[in-house]
Amino acid sequence: MATAHANIQALTAARFEMPAKFTQFCENGGQPLGGYIGGQSVPGSMNATFETVDPGSLDVLARVCEMGEAEVDRAVTAAQAAFAGNGVNGWRDFPVDERCELVMKLVELADRDRDVLLACEIHDGGKVSELAEGDVDQIRACAEYFCDVARRIPLGDGPSLDVADGVRGFTYREPWGVVAGIIPWNYPIVLTSWFMFPALLAGNCIIIKPAEDTPLSALYLAKLAEEAGFPPGVINVLPGRGELTGQAIAEHPGIRYISFTGSPGVGQHILRTCDRHGTRMKREMGGNGAAIVLDDADPEVVARMIGRHANQHFGQTCCTIHRVFVDQKIADDFIDAERHFFENLKIGYQAEEGTQLGAVINPTQMSRVLKAQSETVARGGQPVVAGGPAEVPGKKGFYVKPALYRTQPGVQCNPQEVFHTFATICPVSSAEQALELANSTPYGLGASVWTKDVDRGIALAKQLRDGTCQVNCHNSIAYGLPYGGQGISGGPGAGVNCEDTFRDYTQVKAVYVSEYPEA
Ligand code: NAD
Repeated sequence: MATAHANIQALTAARFEMPAKFTQFCENGGQPLGGYIGGQSVPGSMNATFETVDPGSLDVLARVCEMGEAEVDRAVTAAQAAFAGNGVNGWRDFPVDERCELVMKLVELADRDRDVLLACEIHDGGKVSELAEGDVDQIRACAEYFCDVARRIPLGDGPSLDVADGVRGFTYREPWGVVAGIIPWNYPIVLTSWFMFPALLAGNCIIIKPAEDTPLSALYLAKLAEEAGFPPGVINVLPGRGELTGQAIAEHPGIRYISFTGSPGVGQHILRTCDRHGTRMKREMGGNGAAIVLDDADPEVVARMIGRHANQHFGQTCCTIHRVFVDQKIADDFIDAERHFFENLKIGYQAEEGTQLGAVINPTQMSRVLKAQSETVARGGQPVVAGGPAEVPGKKGFYVKPALYRTQPGVQCNPQEVFHTFATICPVSSAEQALELANSTPYGLGASVWTKDVDRGIALAKQLRDGTCQVNCHNSIAYGLPYGGQGISGGPGAGVNCEDTFRDYTQVKAVYVSEYPEA
């Protein structure tokens, strides 16, 4: 249809040439890239390396050293030393303005090397440029927001209260000390920024564990941090597998607080592990996002918008729309328009002009998605767009076609996060029925309502159980508003990107003071 609606399209690739500086970084003079501990590149005591590949071509980008238990211990020691200094000059003692200055110096260097960081996200992370550009912008946006928060939220002594005769009490807020960020592969640079900046600005030293599929951006940021002049040990990066490097982080009692983003199963496992030695943990995990489309919506326009959100990073965004509940009055037109959108997504290599649906990150993920597609049919979903493996001429990556199914109330064909351009559409008889079905899931990350009646949309959105509820938009995230999950999608604490996120990187003690008793 030749209307303005045709402009609503999936995020799309511009052609991207790998910059020479990225290639040099990856080649590292013929040596595997080390972890970054205490201001040094560390090969690791296990002599183990792994390859990180471009998921769209399977070209090896770099060899990376895997960090084991000994390196986790070494990083904790380095971070503890950086935190405490000689008692007066540790990272915890830096005035907030000096912390902000170093963070913003790092941001300037990231701006200078933007093309290298884009190459990390496009080639290591498998993203189209339109999304990668937005992700790299988050480095500055996140740093500026948390510098502002850090200047406004004081640490140290709170106001004093008279709590009893001759006794006063006050709060004392301080950084945890050594914290860790365990990061998934789908938004490596965004999540490294989201964890690193509030943690550092609150006075903590951090250990970052990037996902084994996407270690490059965190390692490059560590290199920039060194150039920016961060004291050794304030930022440490430990690449490696979850069950090895991640597990050693979860088991280390010297780490006081862990921020985790990833799948619910892994999050629950880490929580059980670190709880044994009293390490606090915050989890941001997967979802099975719902969209409710009311009867007054224009089916063609909303199908395009929902298609765009469902395909963001090829459906590998945590709050992606996987379940749509549409009023039965407009369901046929809506399903037809969504079919058209899904069928016309341009499948291709993520660094080639025009690609809208690139490869998934690894073979495990590819088999997971294909299995979910066949299980959806086995459970009663009627294929509208059939899915299956895809071929991209000249490329060997993990390509999968999008999948769309029609379903009906009572058919449980889409119970789990699939993490691809995959959705079920269920016609419903009322908004109330849509709401009940949307909420019938243990997940609770993101959901949306689509209607011309914004007030009705807001009233319904408030009844969704998700941590982020939206009206006529879906994947919106803004600094100042918490982004977190309910149910198995997250918790505890305030989610990310708000003032409480900063507070979560601190602990508060109550201090009571009484005069010494008279003899
Ligand atoms: P994952 O849970 O498999 O891995 C996440 C991280 O945990 C990786 O760094 C991994 O190496 C590590 N890990 C794995 N096992 C571990 C263990 N035993 N101990 C310690 N660490 C371990 O997740 P993934 O496949 O990398 O990412 C996709 C998932 O992340 C999806 O469920 C997605 O929805 C979720 N996600 C959520 C958000 C959010 O903000 N809620 C954002 C992005 C991604």
